[in-house]
Amino acid sequence: MRFHIITLFKDSISGYIEHSILKRAIEDGKISVQFYDPKDYGEEKIRVDAKPYGGGPGMVIRALPVIRAIEATKGRKKKVKILFLSPQGEQFTNTYADGLAENYADIVIVSGRYEGIDARIKEVFAMDDVSIGPFVLTGGELPAMIMVDVISRRVPGVLGNIESLEEDRHASKDVYTRPAEFVWKRKKYTVPEVLLSGHHKNIDGWREDKDIKKKHK
Ligand code: SAH
Repeated sequence: MRFHIITLFKDSISGYIEHSILKRAIEDGKISVQFYDPKDYGEEKIRVDAKPYGGGPGMVIRALPVIRAIEATKGRKKKVKILFLSPQGEQFTNTYADGLAENYADIVIVSGRYEGIDARIKEVFAMDDVSIGPFVLTGGELPAMIMVDVISRRVPGVLGNIESLEEDRHASKDVYTRPAEFVWKRKKYTVPEVLLSGHHKNIDGWREDKDIKKKHK
């Protein structure tokens, strides 16, 4: 899976992919992440943002630098999906991520800032509006990283065997590790008995009760 992220602020997020599972996925060639800054595709001495037509607060990112940046992601193959990040978009979910991981080899994520991006970019390219949740952030960079993370762990081979997807097993939000008992401010803290029992069926049952599937379908 190749991710192409259009952003004015690459440095605010690039570090996220340089660690742990995503780092390994990049080294193993399972995923790649490339950044494209509209400032590199604008006209010299002209700012990439301008005041909105019709008035109102905030600045709007001009269309052409973003269009050229999206165009630069080409050289890519046929199966490309372009996503436009917006708090008004369709809710991003595990199911949505599966659809992308299964059907596309390249994903272009267009990240806005300020008041957003000139809407005409959506007339130039077919793209889907996607939101990561019912709240508004100052920019699309964190949403872009969240999507890269969620989609990547669904790409075959990115998670090792023991780290398989939560939806395919019983996973609890409450997890425990050694020691089995500790004392903090004279109070004793222990691990739920069942987890120490070695009785896999009961352990599975306990986890099923707290299952992530009940929350994220
Ligand atoms: N005024 C705009 C929001 C601008 S927020 C509006 O009402 O739609 C600035 C940018 O942050 C957006 O262009 C988008 O790229 C990103 N963003 C903010 N919240 C987001 C969310 N919940 N999901 C995805 N992207 C979001």
